[in-house]
Amino acid sequence: MFDVPSDGMPSAQEALDRLREGNRRFLQSLHRPDAPSELTARIALVVKQEPLAIILSCSDSRVPSELVFDQGMGDLFVIRVAGNIVAPSMVGSVEFAASAFGTRLVVVMGHSQCGAIQATLDYVQHGKGAPSDNIRDLVERCRSPVETVVSVAGPDAPRERLMREAVRANVRNSCDHLRHGSALLERLCREDGMRIVGAEYSLETGEVDFFEGV
Ligand SMILES: [Zn+2]
Repeated sequence: MFDVPSDGMPSAQEALDRLREGNRRFLQSLHRPDAPSELTARIALVVKQEPLAIILSCSDSRVPSELVFDQGMGDLFVIRVAGNIVAPSMVGSVEFAASAFGTRLVVVMGHSQCGAIQATLDYVQHGKGAPSDNIRDLVERCRSPVETVVSVAGPDAPRERLMREAVRANVRNSCDHLRHGSALLERLCREDGMRIVGAEYSLETGEVDFFEGV
């Protein structure tokens, strides 16, 4: 493992620790005491950015990464898409940030009560169609892990349990896709200390649980 990158960027572990600390502050309605003002940060960021983590999360308005991790401008490179799915442009966005900035930590973050996962469950369990081809594409990308959850849990499993397990299975699926769907990311993981981890944000508690790859 390459725990201490030579370019001054935080290691994956250090970045993860900072996100965990930030989420603890968020839970207590606190803010980083040494955070620069937005004006200072904005001016410093004109020349360059050094985001400590790349976050692939859901577009849901209730899950803003900068807030739930108490991070400021320039701290996170965030890719948001309904259901935190991995399509080629998301892989490309992660590859871009990793190669351009040397960021070592990638977090795929799902969340409780995710509408994209609810729609996928409705489709898998009841054949409920999507209102457009583009939404169907999103559902298709979540379908395989959700189908597995439904078939293991059985047809009578409570919806709450299926949702809980499907959200996490979908995050794991996106992590796997990033780990094995890109030669560039695979090399960075193998040789440069990059880590791809999965997390779930709880709408109910505000807590982020890193449950995959940590
Ligand atoms: Zn969602």
